[in-house]
Amino acid sequence: MEHGNYDVIIIGGGFTGVTAARELNQKGYKTVILEARDRLGGRTWFDHRMGRNLEMGGTWVHWFQPHVWAEITRYQLDVVPSPVPDKAYWISNNEAHTGTIDELFGSVDKGMNELLADSQKYFPLPYKPLQADNLKEMDHLTVTDMLKRLDLTADEYDIMHSIWALNFNGSPEEGGISQTYRWAALSNYNWVLMMDICASFKLAKGTKELLERIASDADTDIFLSKVVSSIAKTGENYTVTTKDGEHFKGKTVINTLPLNILNSIDYQPALSIKKQQAGAEGQTSKGVKFWAKVKGLTEPMLLFQPADYPINYAQYEYADGDDGIIVGFGPDATKLDPENRVEVEEALRHCLPDIEVIESTGHDWVADEFAGETWPMQRNNQLSDYLAELQRPEDGLFIAGADYANGWAGFIDGAIESAFSTTRKVYAYLRKLSQNETTV
Ligand SMILES: Cc1cc2nc3c(=O)[nH]c(=O)nc-3n(C[C@H](O)[C@H](O)[C@H](O)COP(=O)(O)OP(=O)(O)OC[C@H]3O[C@@H](n4cnc5c(N)ncnc54)[C@H](O)[C@@H]3O)c2cc1C
Repeated sequence: MEHGNYDVIIIGGGFTGVTAARELNQKGYKTVILEARDRLGGRTWFDHRMGRNLEMGGTWVHWFQPHVWAEITRYQLDVVPSPVPDKAYWISNNEAHTGTIDELFGSVDKGMNELLADSQKYFPLPYKPLQADNLKEMDHLTVTDMLKRLDLTADEYDIMHSIWALNFNGSPEEGGISQTYRWAALSNYNWVLMMDICASFKLAKGTKELLERIASDADTDIFLSKVVSSIAKTGENYTVTTKDGEHFKGKTVINTLPLNILNSIDYQPALSIKKQQAGAEGQTSKGVKFWAKVKGLTEPMLLFQPADYPINYAQYEYADGDDGIIVGFGPDATKLDPENRVEVEEALRHCLPDIEVIESTGHDWVADEFAGETWPMQRNNQLSDYLAELQRPEDGLFIAGADYANGWAGFIDGAIESAFSTTRKVYAYLRKLSQNETTV
């Protein structure tokens, strides 16, 4: 079956896809969203689990994230705070510790400031991440390279290593130092504020409500359960073909696939070699997010464990009768099945030996063929080697998404930012196309 005459075919119905559709429709362009899953939202998924709605993917938002905040204002949505932890538990230098969050963060404040000291030098304007002409001199360094250069005690090293494993949702051995500088720059060079921005406030009715509000403002065709298998330019137009053999014709394509699965589509003509290389390398976030109902837990708390443990971070999120619900992360999805209550309980018992997990849940985004990653975090060299090229359109084919944003890449904010900047490029391309048609 053939569907035709779209101005823009948008592949993927996550925040990037729906925002791009809305922006293009408001300029009068005819769009279609082709989404592989049976739902919109992509790596955000507000799903009913353990007796309540829980975010399986993207969750926290903040007014320091200007694009998502503008949408929250536009649709007049409420945000609610996550509970502020009273107590912190952590393992460092092979010992379990208990204290306050101020004691935990205070113990690494000096080290964190030293680690991030050059953020302003390389990122004086956070939304222009490629501005510094000397990026290359540090972009080859990983977080671990930099941690080893600092004069840290074993405790400081372990805590900072675990904090960055959490932020990367992957290994600091692979994480580029430039990625940490970008986050710091976006947070006014203040690492405690940075941690707050990333995990303090969430949408009261979930990410689903925001996504649906944006989608309902987009007068677009939407096809769910359509897995795109190829994008081909034939003459002036594109043909996008799905696995079930349907063809969609349009003047341009916005492809919002995450970087780690960018090469899962057949492109005719092929993507540039550099884009292909970027997709083949992929980025670092290969971790897991889990939710667990914990017997008798009533105090807001957080915990950090070493990055080679299946779970390296958890925080109290909701009361559930006499019990509590925690959310947490591990840097390696192959080490934890979030649906396996026993595994989750065992992984938490290093810090909290008496913890009893009643139920647990989560989603393996890394094994998910339509994601391949959690929130995108670049490796060393990837910022200077690939970002500009990934943002460069190729003859009517545009790549967009949180993975390719300038600012909060890897966040909902980055998805919206990328939709804005990409749709401006699409307008320019379509205007030029129509001028050429008029001239002919
Ligand atoms: C566990 C986890 C926690 C996170 N926490 C936060 C957080 O707290 N705050 C925050 O701001 N962000 C967070 N993020 C990141 C945030 O969710 C993402 O950056 C953002 O949602 C990405 O939006 P996107 O539209 O760019 O990509 P996606 O949401 O990945 O959209 C791409 C879409 O393309 C579809 N697709 C893939 N292949 C095909 C194909 N062949 N054919 C058709 N469609 C296809 C996918 O199904 C998907 O819907 C988190 C992500 C995860 C996974």
